[in-house]
Amino acid sequence: MSGAASNPIDIAKRHMLSDSPRLYTIGTFDDRVTVLSQQRRALNLAWSLIESRRLPTRADEKRLKVAIIGTGFAGLTFAAALIQKRCRCDISLFEERDTLLPLQQGSDTRWLHPHIYDWPEEGSDSAAAMLPVLNWTAARASDVVVQVLSSWKELVERNEKSIKLYCNTRHLQIRPPSTNSVLVEWVGENRLASDGSSLPEGSGAKGQSAEFDVVVLAVGFGLEADNPSSYWRNEILGQPSLSQPRRTFLISGQGDGAMIDLLRLKISQFRQDRILAELFYDKRELLDELRRLRADFLAGEPDFPLFDRFEALCRKRKAVGRQMKLALVHLSTRLRRDTEIVLKLRVRNFADLLTAKTSRTSFQNALLVFLLYRCGGFAPSWEDELELIPRFGISPENVIRRHGTKRLEQLRRLLPPAICDPIEKCWADNRCADFRQTAEIQWKGGYFGAPGRQEDFDRVDDKLRKTWRKEYLPGPTSLLASSISGAVSGAIARLRRDAKHFRVTLHRVLAIQREELLQQACDYVGRNLRDAASTAGRTFPANNATIGLAYRTRAIVRSRPGIEPAELNEAMQKLSLSQASREMASEVGFVAAVPILQPVTDFYAPSPVCAIIYFDSRDEGFDLSDSELEGITILMGSVVDSIGLRNGVPLERLENTPLQARNHSALPATLLPSNLAGALIIPEVDPPRTEKAFIFNYDHSDLTPIAN
Ligand SMILES: Cc1cc2nc3c(=O)[nH]c(=O)nc-3n(C[C@H](O)[C@H](O)[C@H](O)COP(=O)(O)OP(=O)(O)OC[C@H]3O[C@@H](n4cnc5c(N)ncnc54)[C@H](O)[C@@H]3O)c2cc1C
Repeated sequence: MSGAASNPIDIAKRHMLSDSPRLYTIGTFDDRVTVLSQQRRALNLAWSLIESRRLPTRADEKRLKVAIIGTGFAGLTFAAALIQKRCRCDISLFEERDTLLPLQQGSDTRWLHPHIYDWPEEGSDSAAAMLPVLNWTAARASDVVVQVLSSWKELVERNEKSIKLYCNTRHLQIRPPSTNSVLVEWVGENRLASDGSSLPEGSGAKGQSAEFDVVVLAVGFGLEADNPSSYWRNEILGQPSLSQPRRTFLISGQGDGAMIDLLRLKISQFRQDRILAELFYDKRELLDELRRLRADFLAGEPDFPLFDRFEALCRKRKAVGRQMKLALVHLSTRLRRDTEIVLKLRVRNFADLLTAKTSRTSFQNALLVFLLYRCGGFAPSWEDELELIPRFGISPENVIRRHGTKRLEQLRRLLPPAICDPIEKCWADNRCADFRQTAEIQWKGGYFGAPGRQEDFDRVDDKLRKTWRKEYLPGPTSLLASSISGAVSGAIARLRRDAKHFRVTLHRVLAIQREELLQQACDYVGRNLRDAASTAGRTFPANNATIGLAYRTRAIVRSRPGIEPAELNEAMQKLSLSQASREMASEVGFVAAVPILQPVTDFYAPSPVCAIIYFDSRDEGFDLSDSELEGITILMGSVVDSIGLRNGVPLERLENTPLQARNHSALPATLLPSNLAGALIIPEVDPPRTEKAFIFNYDHSDLTPIAN
């Protein structure tokens, strides 16, 4: 993740086709586009328009009418962001197909993994997209659609019943601009925005037109040229033939779509979600080498000789060369014998395909196809299709063309020449380099969990603060945090049988855009808890409140015995408690934050703190002695170690993977600030320490684990 602070105006400009009227696109001119990168661009656009005041969020700002054209992942994510931020906008969504997310809907033969294109980077096996809205985890494309549409439905039904959706739109046209607004005319069916279903009052298509203040073109890249069947349609290429002993296929194309079809047709039991782990899971030295190679490849040298560098790995001595050969041997035993493949390329040599200049193939697909080539899995050819087809006796249904899409066509269909002609010229000149949009996260952690602009966060009322600034929290992580908090709560209950109130929770460590955050990983457990609202998932800057102090001092921080609640409250103000949290209840006279320490490693554990247990009480005179506190810390350490050191029963569909965004250095350690010394103290009790680095990121995954 880039840590560079970006200017929202600059980001908005990159999405802007026209400022007056306001027309924006999402990813139209970018390469190596994925579902996740499009969702991040959509969120970046929402962030930039809100922060640059192009979209209203305050009660005294004029409501705007926003049209979003296209309800793929990008369009829906942009709309969800506006709803979540409570923008003062009337949103209309337009979709030319019959339903939301039409491309991937029902696509059972393709897989989506949010980070596979980052492989073999650390964290690329993390199954969660980790998005603050419309999050999803790796699965079949059709299942990802179900995940995203359920969140969308829930969001729309909870917040925004007035949003409009038109499906099966025909003749959708943006009229030449005359004023600051955009006139859109269309024929389409009015549908229920939460799920795209027909409205009871009749769903016939009607011709309409309306003016919009802002129009976002989330029209994607269109269907693939020269191929009647989209990549996302179901087919049986990956299945063994039941009728013919051997079929010859011609695959024409140089991008990821062509490479994936090649791999499916030639590798037995190929599954995009498993193949990398199957071939490389135990090859640490090779993976380190591949990581370096990928970084060089992505550095952008147009003639970077990836093929030669792969070859060099095969020739290496010791572990790397041995592991590359093992991967080759493994792959050669997996070649399908019921298919023959000719890969039709535009370049003469296969080696040329793997230079950045020629190929838009991702690193991991390039590696797999290289290995397949070395195993004799296919024959590349640059000859004309018309010569290859008769020569190899290839039947028409066995010709697969993956020639990419005609993205400019998507704009041409919608926009008047006055807007589209300059874009086409710009594309011809430099492929619209000025419109390339970063997919690096620009917003700060918690941003989409709170309404309004960042500068207005101080004005958010205390009631809302209970549940704001939430980020994705995996259910299994929350379950684990609840169990640990429950054990601590039980220990306190035993020590203070008469206590009327106490509560316990656990915070895990996250980083978003390299900002360290503490995330409440479960709801409070304890005695006499008044609030029913769920607070799990909230994030706090890592220097905020008592938990932040425990995080920074790497020590247990607790209230001074005998302190008055008013005095403690005053100390909390100094700790900017209400910056990200709500005011502390006035009766609270006891607080404690206990960091769970771990051995520091570069990536897995940049900070010595892996989690923080927090507990407090509103009971007058509630206190715990140092030896009682010590007993609780021993219990915590033992629970966490017993989870971390387990190596018996496999977790099956549960994974505990490093967080993608953890590639950061930890905030430096500090001492307890002297101005707080009257209210808070560091007791003579050591915090619990785990034996191994511990990651609190348990999540479920649809991927069947590889036995090792
Ligand atoms: C061959 C191929 C392989 C791919 N493989 C992967 C992969 O493995 N992993 C991955 O993450 N991504 C992959 N992608 C990319 C993925 O398809 C896109 O990232 C994703 O679909 C982009 O979402 P989007 O919302 O920007 O566009 P789209 O999904 O294309 O959505 C655009 C929406 O706009 C609608 N629309 C278009 N024009 C109009 C109009 N004029 N009026 C009204 N509605 C309109 C469309 O019907 C559609 O619903 C692949 C793409 C291709 C072509």
